[in-house]
Amino acid sequence: MTQTASGRTPASGHESADATQFASLDPRTGEVVGRHPVHGPDEVAATVEAAREAGRWWAGLGFAGRGERLDAWRKLIVERLDELATVISAETGKPADDARLELVLVVDHLHWATRNAERVLRRRRVSPGMLMYNFAATLEYQPLGVVGVIGPWNYPAFTPMGSIAYALAAGNAVVFKPSEYTPGVGAWLAATFAEVVPEHPVFGVVTGFGETGAALCRSGVDKVAFTGSTATGKRVMATCAETLTPVLVECGGKDPLIVDADADLHAAAEAAVWGGMSNAGQTCVGVERVYVVDAVADRFVDLVVKRAKALRPGGEPGADLGPITMPSQVDVIRGHIQDALDRGARAVLGGVDSVRSPYVGPVVLTDVPEDCAAIRDETFGPTITINRVPDVDEALRLANGTRYGLAATVFSRSRGADLARRLRAGMVSVNSVIAFAAVPGLPFGGVGDSGFGRIHGEDGLREFARPQAVTRRRFRAVLEPMTFARGSRTVRRLLRLVRLRYGR
Ligand code: NDP
Repeated sequence: MTQTASGRTPASGHESADATQFASLDPRTGEVVGRHPVHGPDEVAATVEAAREAGRWWAGLGFAGRGERLDAWRKLIVERLDELATVISAETGKPADDARLELVLVVDHLHWATRNAERVLRRRRVSPGMLMYNFAATLEYQPLGVVGVIGPWNYPAFTPMGSIAYALAAGNAVVFKPSEYTPGVGAWLAATFAEVVPEHPVFGVVTGFGETGAALCRSGVDKVAFTGSTATGKRVMATCAETLTPVLVECGGKDPLIVDADADLHAAAEAAVWGGMSNAGQTCVGVERVYVVDAVADRFVDLVVKRAKALRPGGEPGADLGPITMPSQVDVIRGHIQDALDRGARAVLGGVDSVRSPYVGPVVLTDVPEDCAAIRDETFGPTITINRVPDVDEALRLANGTRYGLAATVFSRSRGADLARRLRAGMVSVNSVIAFAAVPGLPFGGVGDSGFGRIHGEDGLREFARPQAVTRRRFRAVLEPMTFARGSRTVRRLLRLVRLRYGR
């Protein structure tokens, strides 16, 4: 069995007898749902080269020409939404409605990126300032060329489309390397794009394991947009450093939820359960840790347990929680639960027995020591920890106490916005959970081990563009200091002016 560059073994039957292909499996049944090529460095280079040529044509279409085509793609995705949702469910095992919901967000973001690209990126005038009054200054955000996108499997359409849609709208060609667990989703996206843009391969896809991703990093693309785990993010950065390829890194999180004494406890409990357990907890911005103020802790825990208890894991259409998509994660989840219990935590719902691969039932742990893996590391399963704190200041201190800083949630009637500002997180939902991801105008990304750079919103468009500054001299100035022909008094006069203007 070979080891992938991600350190992950393409076990779980991904390897096929033919080393140039691999199988994509339904994690609910182990059934093969597709076979895809393992692209090596040469194929990746050829795809990038073709995309580079196509990208020149795409950039030349301008905002209006690209907008027409991106609108057509959006309509096609809406028309065939169930078809793509079926591929997502087959490759991740997630319930059909969760797959559909993911696509609702994809469509909304694609629409926003298309509508706003010109406003955000077009050439604009910039004030030249007092000293340069005889100049016109302009700023324009030009396409980078080819953007390499490397995506994870947990939201195999929504997450990479946060880069793909914005990069395309900004005028770039894209080469996408989907996760080895969800190659069919990547292939579907690229094939449907080619239906509406048949002229040139503007959006290419390369499939395979970590080595294919590494080859994309080395291929000479103009930027890599990576979403995945922190460990792989570091490898991707190191590989990109070899060619000084810029990189956007969206990694994992250990997102906290804070419940204040005046919170709507029913809404907070609902948010903790949905935020922590939807998609079987496999959400980068999912709730993993809860800090609840002592005064309301007992009632809150009761409400959480009551709700979570009703959730049914399984592969049938009506199940609430699908399987754990990546088989090796099951051991991580079990290990986090066991370690917490061994060190004095209480399981108020479920426990180690809830882990029945490939499914994990809902688990709620309380009084979990802060140095446990269940508090410090990404669990990525339908488990939450709930720790009580004397006040919100302590909640904030603990919430901010991990290496991660992706997203956070606050429930407070009177001071939600204030608490949000004190959280070290790229995104915060107040009195709701994960709401920021559904607002296309807001940037998405984290700090610390959660990565850097932003997808979505205006910042997300600018991530895939290079600012070009232009100055144009309109007329001769009275003082011309930047020439050898300047008179001996020119700089002295200029200084007098500067003292008058800035020295007081
Ligand atoms: P991984 O880090 O394992 O993989 C991410 C992608 O990188 C995959 O396509 C993978 O390919 C590829 N890859 C692996 N090794 C290399 C390499 N050496 N060079 C280049 N590419 C490589 O993450 P997962 O797929 O397991 O996704 C889950 C993680 O993603 C979680 O930590 C989650 O929090 C995070 N995530 C973050 C989000 C965010 O926006 N911040 C959103 C969604 C998820 P292959 O699969 O073939 O190995």
